[in-house]
Amino acid sequence: MPVELTMDEFDYDAIIVGAGPIGGYLARKLAKENLRILILEEHAEIGRPFQCAGLVNPKAMESVGLFDTVLTPIWGARIYSPEGTLVEIGQQEKVRTWSVCRKLFDEAVVIQSVKSGADIWLSSKPIDLKIDEEKVEVEISTPYGIKKLTTKVVCGADGAHSWVRRTLRMGKPKETMIGMQIEVSGYNGKKGKLDMYTGSDISPGFFAWVIPSGETARVGVWSQTKYIGEKSCEDLLDELMNNSRWSYKFKDCREVGRFVGSVPSGILKKTTSTRVALFGDAAGICKPTTGGGIGPGFAHIDLIAEDFANLIKIDNLDKISLSKIDKKIDKMRKSQSRARALRDAFLSHSSDNELEEIFKVWAKPDVIKMINDVGEIENPIPLGTKMLKEIPEFRRLAGRAIKAVLWS
Ligand SMILES: Cc1cc2nc3c(=O)[nH]c(=O)nc-3n(C[C@H](O)[C@H](O)[C@H](O)COP(=O)(O)OP(=O)(O)OC[C@H]3O[C@@H](n4cnc5c(N)ncnc54)[C@H](O)[C@@H]3O)c2cc1C
Repeated sequence: MPVELTMDEFDYDAIIVGAGPIGGYLARKLAKENLRILILEEHAEIGRPFQCAGLVNPKAMESVGLFDTVLTPIWGARIYSPEGTLVEIGQQEKVRTWSVCRKLFDEAVVIQSVKSGADIWLSSKPIDLKIDEEKVEVEISTPYGIKKLTTKVVCGADGAHSWVRRTLRMGKPKETMIGMQIEVSGYNGKKGKLDMYTGSDISPGFFAWVIPSGETARVGVWSQTKYIGEKSCEDLLDELMNNSRWSYKFKDCREVGRFVGSVPSGILKKTTSTRVALFGDAAGICKPTTGGGIGPGFAHIDLIAEDFANLIKIDNLDKISLSKIDKKIDKMRKSQSRARALRDAFLSHSSDNELEEIFKVWAKPDVIKMINDVGEIENPIPLGTKMLKEIPEFRRLAGRAIKAVLWS
């Protein structure tokens, strides 16, 4: 027979594994509801190792107000076809996204949670979880030895390779992209604009990017193993910077840092189970079109925080009650599938020749106007759908995307 526990018998109301931006944001939201929160972070400091292009969308930025971490506002993009057709978009008065210092950003998000009352243990990670209907027991490796704590619920915000997700066998995201990025000085770019390069030799199925970040720029590629075969992301980056038609833009670049990481996309079939919930990369919440995880990760938390806090307060955390929280992100799941279908139709499933044809249409002044008026980096669905419906040259692409985009 399980022993009945009173509120005080739990050390914490929730233990959050991972002090990335998503763990930090979740901790702040729950601590503000007067819940007792502990964040566990396996590293000795927040925001290392750094694995991100550092773009934060306007809505996510507003929810944390960390404008002092901004390196450069990004208001436009120059997108190049494999053969060099340029599509230049953006309006200087409309910031589309912010390029931030991710280390400062992550630290500041976590500090906000601590100011709201959350505790944090650094250099600490869970090594065992025992979950039953009454409680969760977490065994934690800390610099001071092994500690055991009880909590009502454990939250996995522990990134792409989530220990919580793997330990509790909660499935895998639909797709995992691999990304590689280097930080350079000396890139020949344009202030406020990100550059995007396409082509099967440099970023098969996806795109390569250069993002201005203050004094330096972040040069990255992402793709999937099914597209790059024997090659590595490092090979692709090398191709972009040294052998492609764009190598002249990189000739004065000096590398100052390099990072490799995964981009898990395709929200898990179930992000919750008895006394457990997954968030951010652990739940597979990155956008299939941009690889951005901070915006959708915050949006997920905004969507469920209040209901989740109420369930924690009344200790109603069985599988069925928590599945109501999971259901709330069905709309996000659907919108990610539609965005993926659009990405596939326009980019991932197009050969270089087909991409050339697409770029020729995108480069027309009336289409550029449509992109500037309707396009949003974070939500490509309205623009993609409009293009498929209204631009005759794209009708044949609609066949690829029609089921997921037009009729869902
Ligand atoms: C090359 C690249 C470029 C990207 N560019 C962008 C971009 O421009 N914009 C954007 O929004 N997203 C971008 N992303 C994705 C973005 O980095 C992630 O979506 C975001 O960091 C997710 O936050 P998170 O808190 O879920 O996970 P993470 O940032 O990975 O944080 C997880 C935290 O948990 C800790 N942790 C892990 N395991 C344990 C454990 N067992 N115990 C305790 N602690 C643990 C980690 O140390 C880490 O601090 C990019 C990703 C890559 C690979």
